[in-house]
Amino acid sequence: MSLPLDHDGFVRRECPHCISQFKWHHGPASEEAEQQPLPTTYYCPLCGQSAGPDSWWTQEQINYARGVIAPAAARLVEEGLKNAFKPTRSKYLRVDVKGSIDTREAPSPLTEPDDMVIVASPCHSYEPVKVTEETSGPYHCLVCGQAFAV
Ligand SMILES: [Zn+2]
Ligand SMILES: [Zn+2]
Repeated sequence: MSLPLDHDGFVRRECPHCISQFKWHHGPASEEAEQQPLPTTYYCPLCGQSAGPDSWWTQEQINYARGVIAPAAARLVEEGLKNAFKPTRSKYLRVDVKGSIDTREAPSPLTEPDDMVIVASPCHSYEPVKVTEETSGPYHCLVCGQAFAV
């Protein structure tokens, strides 16, 4: 599963602590960023709390992932049931697997609007983030959590 990026190459993220959304750049944003070690923790630009790299899924991304995976899993279960019951057909026991398990169509792909504004921390400027225009800061550095004003 791949996530859509906006035109600046940012992907939407959601803080597991304050449930605010922001974006971080997908992959290194510059040559300088390429030379940095991959962080094992990221800091929320809005509340400054930290979490591992896999903790920042938005609700839409989670729902999308479920929508993609669930129908595929349901089809597998259905096939398995049909095969499992084939040999049990006799005059004493007859099992029919009728109809189908809810196999919803895969959800339409996620899209990423070009919203939010780019802010870069003075300490780790190679790792910019995007925040909504309604927020005014201070923001926290994605890499080290240091607060900074814009
Ligand atoms: Zn937060
Ligand atoms: Zn920093």
